[in-house]
Amino acid sequence: MPDSRPNILFVMTDDHAAHAISAYGSRINQTPNLDRIASAGMRCEKTFCTNSICAPSRACILSGTYNHINGVRTLHDRFDGAQDTVQKRLGDAGYQTAIIGKWHLGHGGEADPTGFDHWCVLPGQGDYFNPHFHTPEGTVQVEGYCTEIITDMSLDWLRNRDPETPFMLMCHHKAPHRHWEPSPKYADLFEGDEIPVPETFQDDHRGHARAAREAKMKLMDLTEQDLKAPVPEGLSEEEELHWRYQRYIKDYLRCVQSVDDSVGQLLDYLEAENLFENTVVIYTSDQGFFLGDHNWFDKRFMYEESLKMPFLISYPQEIAPGSVSHAMVLNVDFPATFLDWAGLEVPEAWQGVSARKCFQGSVPSDWRDAMYYRYWMHKDGSHNVYAHYGLRTHHHKLICYYADALDAMGDRTQGYDGNGISPEPPEWELFDLKKDPNEMLSVYHDPDYEGIVANLKERLAEEMAKVQDEPYDHPDCR
Ligand code: CA
Repeated sequence: MPDSRPNILFVMTDDHAAHAISAYGSRINQTPNLDRIASAGMRCEKTFCTNSICAPSRACILSGTYNHINGVRTLHDRFDGAQDTVQKRLGDAGYQTAIIGKWHLGHGGEADPTGFDHWCVLPGQGDYFNPHFHTPEGTVQVEGYCTEIITDMSLDWLRNRDPETPFMLMCHHKAPHRHWEPSPKYADLFEGDEIPVPETFQDDHRGHARAAREAKMKLMDLTEQDLKAPVPEGLSEEEELHWRYQRYIKDYLRCVQSVDDSVGQLLDYLEAENLFENTVVIYTSDQGFFLGDHNWFDKRFMYEESLKMPFLISYPQEIAPGSVSHAMVLNVDFPATFLDWAGLEVPEAWQGVSARKCFQGSVPSDWRDAMYYRYWMHKDGSHNVYAHYGLRTHHHKLICYYADALDAMGDRTQGYDGNGISPEPPEWELFDLKKDPNEMLSVYHDPDYEGIVANLKERLAEEMAKVQDEPYDHPDCR
């Protein structure tokens, strides 16, 4: 009997926001190959990360658990490779497994990838040009452009696999992570064009908590290394802002264009080999990104542009072509879903659940209607984003910036006065996503929302308890 279990091709980029994909209605670029997945399958509008930053999101995707359980709360935490992961479960069940590209969960010794039959990963962030790769046999340098190299390596692995057993390939691009360095192929793309600015470009964060005003990810915070040129002299502040945006967004989108090519090559291969029908193809990114939205670059905040992961999925046997889902699916759900497709039980300890039915278009009646988020990396050196947690429902978003008095990395022993009470109060935000989808004005202090705030706080406590997390130890933080 041939093995009919589906293959899984999981393509993940780094920091690619959904609003830079034409299938998601991008106003700023075209991604014909990513759109092929959406046409053949489903575009998911509410796939969210539980902590909008690289390493933590990746840890959730491998382990099926939240960051306080899998141990990767910040960029500085290493992933403990001894823990249960999706690649181990699939490997034990006879899948061939590989990860090629960005790993970002530490490297060397115990931090190397575990549980994969094949791995070839960038050390740390890796380089766009002539990158080094870390392999079980040691480190190698490969000449060329990173996105193209990762694609070639992925195709090589596919060609050389055993065709008799199913595979899970994680093709993890570095692009389009900062500092944005496009391939020479796209160096001139958008030259002479004026890329439109987003609706919230002029946001001065008066409608937000102090945390938003203190964050150092405004377009004015982009460095010369980001912009690849000194700011021309004699520009007004507004002119400089637009100049910075054009420099930033064009290089970002040029990097995306190589990713789109990569996905096209992988899809071509699957089609040519008659594998497309029996392969679950996923395109996602570890989290979203601000593309000049709120006058920012980067991510970290629980605001939509950063919280939302692009998620396109095709699997012709189960997923209707051109379909759209509004079910809330989280990064912690991905591994459970993969096991479901492989016909395996989801381990009790995993906190995510299989979203297979959501992708089939029949959302279970008890599917989640709220999600819990926590960003732990308090006031990291360069971006200065405050730690926060919150709850998103289909209608509202409640956020608590709980740790203004904490020092770095969520160390609860620091920043307190003698009574264990933070000298600075926490700050809350509430957004009405139906009236204010751009999250421009917090209505937390609006008396009309008093009842909603009380309900959502209760709900937040419930969701937190459900995933075995705890609120910050301050009476105003719950
Ligand atoms: Ca990332």
